[in-house]
Parts: sequence; C-alpha cells; structure tokens
Amino acid sequence: MSAITEEIQKLDITALRKEFPVLNQQINGKPLVYFDNAATSQKPDVVIKAIEEYYQGYNANIHRGIHTLAEKATKAFEDTRETLRAFLNATEKEEIIFTKGTTESINLVAGSYGRKFIREKDEIIISAMEHHSNIVPWQMLCEEKGAVLKVIPVSEKGEILMEAYEELLSERTKIVSVVYASNSLGTINPVKELIDKAHDKGAIVLLDAAQAAAHEEIDVQTLDCDFLAMSAHKVYGPTGMGALYGKRSLLEDMPPYQGGGEMIKDVSFAKTTYNDIPYKFEAGTPNIADVVAFREAIHFVNRLGKKNIAAHEAEILDYATEKLQAIPDIRLIGTADDKVSVLSFVIEGIHHFDIGQMLDAAGIAIRTGHHCTQPLMNEFGLEGTARASFAVYNTKEEVDSMVVGLEKIIKFLKQ
Ligand code: PMP
Repeated sequence: MSAITEEIQKLDITALRKEFPVLNQQINGKPLVYFDNAATSQKPDVVIKAIEEYYQGYNANIHRGIHTLAEKATKAFEDTRETLRAFLNATEKEEIIFTKGTTESINLVAGSYGRKFIREKDEIIISAMEHHSNIVPWQMLCEEKGAVLKVIPVSEKGEILMEAYEELLSERTKIVSVVYASNSLGTINPVKELIDKAHDKGAIVLLDAAQAAAHEEIDVQTLDCDFLAMSAHKVYGPTGMGALYGKRSLLEDMPPYQGGGEMIKDVSFAKTTYNDIPYKFEAGTPNIADVVAFREAIHFVNRLGKKNIAAHEAEILDYATEKLQAIPDIRLIGTADDKVSVLSFVIEGIHHFDIGQMLDAAGIAIRTGHHCTQPLMNEFGLEGTARASFAVYNTKEEVDSMVVGLEKIIKFLKQ
C-alpha cells in the first residue's frame, strides 16, 4: 500500500460493520464473509437511506423546474458534483461528468475525443492488465479510424515494464489509457510516471480509477491526468453510477457523446447548438437518486479517511497473503510491491470454479474466472483465478474462515 503515514487512526470495524445491513446475514447456514469487493463493495445505511429519502421526499426532475421539489433535487444533484470535485481535487466542478460508471466514462472519451482527434496510423497505448472496458472501446475506435492499439507488457509479478512502455511511446502516440489499480492483480501502477512520459510525447492520458478510487488518495491536478474514470459502486455507492473527470480545455473541444434533452442550448430543425460542459455530456434525465446516494458514499469514505481505510485493508491483505503463501498448493497471481487489497490465486489441480462454489457453501463470497481481463489471463497462461478482495469492513477472523475453507477444499479434492 502506498502513501501511508503516521497520522493513521485505527477504525472501529465492529461498529462499522453495523452500518452495512447486508453483512448481518447467514449464507448457507454460515455468517456471510464478503470478499468480492473488487466486483462491488457493499453499501452503508447512509447510501441506502439517501435513495429512499430522495424518492419519498423530493423526487423531481432537475435543472429546468422552478418548483420547490425541483430546486431541492437540483441542489442535491449538483452538490454531488461539488463533492466529487473535492474528492478528486479537480479545479472546477464543471470538469465532473456523471456517467453510468467507468465503462461509460471510457466509452465517452473514446467515442467523443477519440472520434474527433484520432486519425489513421495514430497509436493508442494500453497495458496488458486492462479490464475489458479499457480495451474494447479503443479497439472499436482503432477499427473505425485505422489507428493502432499497442500494449505495454507486464512482468511475472504483475508490474508494468517501464522500459517497454518507453519504447512504445512515439510521436504517433495520441492516447495512453491505463488502469490505476488492477482488479485482477491488485497492482497499483506508477501512474504519475506513465502520465509524465506520455505528456513528453504530446499524448493525453486517461486513468481507469475503478479500483483505485476506494483505496488511493487521488489528486487529478498533481497527477495531471487528462481524464479519469470511476464507478460509484466500488466506493460504497450505488451501481450503474459513476463519473468522468476531464480537463476543461479538452472537454470543451469535444463533441457531445449522445444527443437529446439537457445537452442542448437551442434546437431548431435547421440547427442545434450545444450546452456548456458538463451538461453537454449529460443527455436525458439522469439517475438522480443514485447521484444523490453517490454523494453519501463519498462522504462516508471522507468520514473514515482514505488513509485509515487503506491502512486497515493493507493489514488484512498482508495477513491473508501470509496465510495463503503458507499453503503449499496455493500460488498467488499478482505479487507487485505496491498493491490494493486484491488477492488472486490458483490451486494447482483444482478448478477456480470449484474453489468458489465450495467456499460459497461455507458462506464465503469470492470471485472466480477471468475478472474481465482475459488477455491478462492469457499472458499468465491461465483461464482464470480465484480472487478475494477486501474492503474496510473485512476482518482477520474472516480471512481465517477462508483459510480453513481452502484447507478443507484442498484436503477433500486432492485425496
Ligand atoms: N476497470 C476496472 C479496473 C474494473 O475493476 C471495473 C469493474 N470491475 C471496470 C473498469 C468497469 O467498471 P463498471 O462495470 O462499473 O463500469
């Protein structure tokens, strides 16, 4: 874990768990152990209540209404934008665009910036550890434009090979789009270095911060990234909700991504003029309830403090890593020096689906498969892995339960 200093405060995890209603249940007769946080984290009471309060108290369409409910809904909606601006330390709230999540944020950049600025033989660089959502939109763009997609290889530990990256960069590179923290390996990439090197060649950089947002302190001004994509549901917020950060100068130069209401200034059958940012990119009635709940999720993270969250998760990750390393049949996949709390592993001779199913029978939820990173799995010569990923409410006792479960599985299936 990076950026952990002495100001860290120990969190009261027992009290914290009570804020997450879903954790208080039995699965298959056993207390739920939820270790699938890289797929989606659970939601605290404040987030769930925000959705209910919106629909019960001030459901109204935003921006154009002059009645009280519309004003209240608009204020709450725009407050989230300001909360996110502060969360990412963007210069202005107009640089924050609401989307359905990381996937839509990346598609927006590829479909708008990419369509306008990418030409034949231009090059786009991604890394070998990208999620499919940071591969396919660029492939689609390259196909349409006759551009070329280049891939930075990763080491056996799961770290980006910086020299290979430098060799790939050239005057032809127009976009570098890389994951901040890998969902399959946990690797935290040296994003500042990647950004600076891309800028030296005149390329712009998009960061996929889907996994990083809940764990890492993100400052888009210090990073100087051009775009950053994130999802609310990995930061204790609602699903199908997220944001794109983009530098004002770039967003202003980009055409709309979708046409419709809200994104216009003036419409006639002869010609339409477009709204200013961020509204130019927010066509149609947005998901107001979930935007409002997103604000509560960010407040929740701010209340705990990212440093404190990261410190707790690092403790759980280190503990789990040590325990799993001690089991001879288990091989860890992704052993980078700097990691978020993701622990991928395989057990020789046992299919990952069997591991997942048998742990589920013991009430333990992990993820199995390729984790939407099929090309990465191919690089490692694997079909998939078993993956345990930890959030702020997880405990060492839960790790112990998983270890007992894994030992039983190995004993049962290997005899
Ligand atoms: N990138 C990474 C690294 C992810 O982990 C995920 C979600 N698994 C995504 C992108 C896509 O996020 P979403 O499905 O919320 O759009």
